[in-house]
Amino acid sequence: MNALNDAAAARKAAFEANKLSKKLHRLVGQAIGDFNMIEDGDKVMVCLSGGKDSHALLDILLEMRRRAPIRFDLVAVNLDQKQPGFPAEVLPTYLRSLGVPFHIENQDTYSIVKSHVPEGKTMCSLCSRLRRGILYRVARELGATKIALGHHRDDMVVTLLMNMFFGSRLKGMPPKLVSDDGQHVVIRPLAYVAERDLERWAEHRQFPIIPCSLCGNQPNLQRQQIKAMVREWEKQYPGRTDNMLTAMSKVVPSHLMDRRLYPFETLRAQGVPDPEGDIAFDDEDPHALLAPPASIEPVRLQKGKP
Ligand code: SF4
Repeated sequence: MNALNDAAAARKAAFEANKLSKKLHRLVGQAIGDFNMIEDGDKVMVCLSGGKDSHALLDILLEMRRRAPIRFDLVAVNLDQKQPGFPAEVLPTYLRSLGVPFHIENQDTYSIVKSHVPEGKTMCSLCSRLRRGILYRVARELGATKIALGHHRDDMVVTLLMNMFFGSRLKGMPPKLVSDDGQHVVIRPLAYVAERDLERWAEHRQFPIIPCSLCGNQPNLQRQQIKAMVREWEKQYPGRTDNMLTAMSKVVPSHLMDRRLYPFETLRAQGVPDPEGDIAFDDEDPHALLAPPASIEPVRLQKGKP
C-alpha cells in the first residue's frame, strides 16, 4: 500500500513540476518577446549570485537556448565579493557540471564597503554600486551584448511601491534598460514570473543556493515591509500582484499629474470621445462616473446610494 502511495505521490510531483516548467518557460519567453530582450547573435551574460532567482534564470535560459529558433550564447558570471564564509567552490563546481561557459570575478568589495560604511548603517547601496561597476566592466571584457539579471515580478511591483512610498516617484524596475554608463543593455527575463514559482522551481531543481546573508548586513527593512504587505494582499485578493504588474504596462498620462508627459496647460475640448477618458467605469470607486447612454448626462455616484 505504501509503495502504491509513493508511486502516486511521485507521479503527482512529476506532473506539477512539468506544469511549473511550462509556465516558467512560457512567461520568460513572453517577456523576452514583448521587450525584444534577446536577438540573434547575442552573447548574454547571466549574473549569477547563487540565490534562487539567478539560478532559475540561468536554468531557464539554458533550456530556452536549446529550443530557440535564434542562436545566442550564454556566459554565467559570478562576482566573489570575498564575504566571510563564501563557499567559493560551489558555483564553479555546479557550472562545470552544466557545461556552461562561466567566469568568476574575484573582487574584495566586502572590505571596501566595511571600511567606508559606519557600523550599523546599511551597506547595500555602496555594495551594489561597486558590484554594478564591476559587472559592467566584466561584460565589456567578455564581449557580452546583453546583461541578464534575475529580478522577478514581485521585485518589479515592490520597487514601484517603494519609489511611490519613499521616493515620491512613479518609477518601477524596467524589464530592459540601458546601463547608467550608456554602454550595456540590461535585461530582466523573469519580469513576469512570480517569486513563489521561483521558490518552487529552486526546490524542485535542488539548486546549490548560497545564502545572501553572508555579508552580515541587515536586510532593507522598508523593502521587507513592502514585500510582506504585497504578499498579504495577494493572500487576501489573489491576482492583485499581477494586476499591479499589468498596470505598469497600461499607463494613462492624461490621468496622472506629470505635466512633462501630458500637455495639461494647452488642453482644449476637441468634441471627440476619449476611450481613456473619465467616462469609464470603475466598480470599486463609488465616485466613478457611469458610462451614460449617448443622450444622458454622466451621473456621479454617491456613497451608499444605488
Ligand atoms: S545584502 Fe550584503 S551583499 Fe547584498 S547588496 Fe547588501 S551589502 Fe551587498
